[in-house]
Amino acid sequence: MTPAAGGARVVVVGAGVTGLLTAVECVLAGHRVTVLDRGAIPDPGSTSHDQHRALRTLMVGDPAATRRMGAAHRKWQELEPVLGPGFYRQVGVVSAVPRERLAEVVRFATGAGVPVETLLPSALPQLGFPAGTAGVREVRAGVLLAGRVLRAAARWLAARPASAALRPYSPVAAVDAAAGKVTLAGGEVVGGDLLLVAAGPWTGELVGRPAVLYRQTMVYLRPGRRQARRWRYAPAVGGLGADGRAWVVPPVAGTLLKVSSDAVCRQVADTDAGAEDQVPWAERLAQAGILRDPAGYEVVAVRACHYAADTAAGGARLERVGPAVWARTACGGSGFAAAPLVAAAMVEAAKEAAA
Ligand SMILES: Cc1cc2nc3c(=O)[nH]c(=O)nc-3n(C[C@H](O)[C@H](O)[C@H](O)COP(=O)(O)OP(=O)(O)OC[C@H]3O[C@@H](n4cnc5c(N)ncnc54)[C@H](O)[C@@H]3O)c2cc1C
Repeated sequence: MTPAAGGARVVVVGAGVTGLLTAVECVLAGHRVTVLDRGAIPDPGSTSHDQHRALRTLMVGDPAATRRMGAAHRKWQELEPVLGPGFYRQVGVVSAVPRERLAEVVRFATGAGVPVETLLPSALPQLGFPAGTAGVREVRAGVLLAGRVLRAAARWLAARPASAALRPYSPVAAVDAAAGKVTLAGGEVVGGDLLLVAAGPWTGELVGRPAVLYRQTMVYLRPGRRQARRWRYAPAVGGLGADGRAWVVPPVAGTLLKVSSDAVCRQVADTDAGAEDQVPWAERLAQAGILRDPAGYEVVAVRACHYAADTAAGGARLERVGPAVWARTACGGSGFAAAPLVAAAMVEAAKEAAA
């Protein structure tokens, strides 16, 4: 296919954070983009559709990954004035670390150029730190208002009809990786110079690449009056609870407090959580020792969310599945934080495709 003058024609399947951010970056780089989603854009059924997600860069023990995540974090900050301010809150992200490892973690962070400070559990008395731990706070990290950023990206694209076509309610039934085309459920064939399949946990199925699927239960809480003031400037925190596997995302900008744990993350065969009772998982979270005063909170919602991980390494995977076709076959647990890296890779690929 001959590339369009002045840029490539990019087709993106999936309007979650990966697809929308890729579309924005490709338009900024002078390409024309079509975004297809089986639902609305943004789609409340996407993995990305939530009130917030934590953005952190520190990958202890892996300097290269820390550098990459640092670059992604800077990109998120650069995007805020482009898409419209107000979707990032730099409240910091704290990890509970065994005290004997504190000096090592701080040394690693400093060496990797990530500013951190230590804090005692008494600084966050509402939370249950595991015995013998203290906090390492990534001061530049924070909380991205996920729903807000998806809406902002969709609005930004919709305002540029010459460069971006948003096509909601366009389910892709098949991907022809060799030809770089997709067939929609109604039979229409859509192709371009470059195709990205970013259909979240459904990507593997679409491109015939296996991934391991996980489901995790999250509980949304409203702090009572007694607790609310403690949360006013609170960071996101990981490594909590008696087993050190729980995390919280704070109630910033009118959102609810979100609580979960790796202990309630389970491997599943598909994304259909419809028949599964979430209450026993929520009860496990209530008993995990995450909050010091669980009775001081109102449970507002319980929700299951899915993510796909690489079959061998367990993390994220972006792969070229055809001459001009890429697929985000796994996002791992940090798909929001890493989305700018996928977008940057696609801008490079689009440049190549247009050459
Ligand atoms: C419990 C939990 C907590 C998490 N916390 C964090 C966090 O704190 N920080 C972080 O960085 N990440 C976090 N993640 C990961 C992050 O949320 C995901 O990696 C990210 O949202 C994936 O975005 P995506 O755009 O790739 O996929 P999605 O958001 O799932 O979007 C895929 C889109 O593709 C569409 N689609 C699917 N099939 C088709 C089809 N056949 N045709 C057309 N469209 C289709 C869907 O409708 C959807 O809109 C968390 C994940 C979970 C499960």
